[in-house]
Amino acid sequence: MDIDSSGAMEGTVRQVMPGRAVVDVAGEAVEAHLRGGLKQGRRNSVHLLAVGDCVRLRRSDGPLVLVDEVLPRRNELARVDVGDKRGLRKQVLAANLDRICVVVSLDKPSFNPRGVDRFLVLAASAEIPALLVLNKCDVGAAAGGESPAPKEILGLYRSLGYEAIGTSVPTGEGLEDLRAALAGRLSFLLGPSGVGKSSLLNVLYGLDLRTTAVSSATSKGVHTTARVDWVDLPGGGAVLDAPGIRSIPPWGLDQGSLAFCFPEFRRAGSCRFGDCLHRGEAGCAVEAAAAGSQVPAQRLESYRRILATLPR
Ligand code: GDP
Ligand code: ZN
Repeated sequence: MDIDSSGAMEGTVRQVMPGRAVVDVAGEAVEAHLRGGLKQGRRNSVHLLAVGDCVRLRRSDGPLVLVDEVLPRRNELARVDVGDKRGLRKQVLAANLDRICVVVSLDKPSFNPRGVDRFLVLAASAEIPALLVLNKCDVGAAAGGESPAPKEILGLYRSLGYEAIGTSVPTGEGLEDLRAALAGRLSFLLGPSGVGKSSLLNVLYGLDLRTTAVSSATSKGVHTTARVDWVDLPGGGAVLDAPGIRSIPPWGLDQGSLAFCFPEFRRAGSCRFGDCLHRGEAGCAVEAAAAGSQVPAQRLESYRRILATLPR
């Protein structure tokens, strides 16, 4: 373990539990307890620490290792704390991410552009680069016709400026591209249950993660702690998966800032009114761009649906 002369060491938080955390220090897992002064009254580690945090540790006078300081975050993926009834508290699910990897499938579950756009908005609002992975590209081809072709979906998102990869576990399509995209980075996997997240990691890295044959029922009751699994990737990099969390209402996003999460809206030019929300106002540049197809109609539709869910 790397300890400097002052007895301090730095590491990355891999798991957060009430009052303590598992911290990776140069490849070694160290259990560290929260220093009393860090706790600040009733706030506990669940609110002070997130997976991915860089922390400074030191030895206590006794046998314990203490989290002495949480270093400033480069970014954070946060939602409204579901345990706080007034919805005023932020819960950080992960920090210091290189990527949010949005995994969806062409079929079973079927491709849902609204869902994809919600995940992409979440990434954009956290200012974390997004990668779209369209899995089960083999299924649509076999089903013939019903869902749009993978090429169209990938082409659309690439034309908007997103990185997008089409994959298939049985045919191997896109797997090398996905491996390259994940290598050496800390990525957070987001996507509905059953799209093939575990299957992709298993086939790419020879892992043995449990795959879901049936979608697990959402449990009742309020969970204040969200489970975030850290999966080390052979060859470098890691993937975070939050099996219990399939949708995350972005923290701190309001109606006025939503359009900034749609890159093609920013390119559409200026609307007549500076506070235009692009829902039928006169002189709206986004609507004009949608008529001329620089803004795809389905993206404007996603925008309006998300807008209706956000505070002013
Ligand atoms: P997760 O819930 O996102 O982790 O999804 P799983 O990895 O558990 O996969 C759900 C189901 O989809 C399993 O029955 C997998 O065998 C299947 N599956 C995963 N990837 C593919 C794929 O690329 N093509 C097809 N046809 N099936 C897949
Ligand atoms: Zn407008």
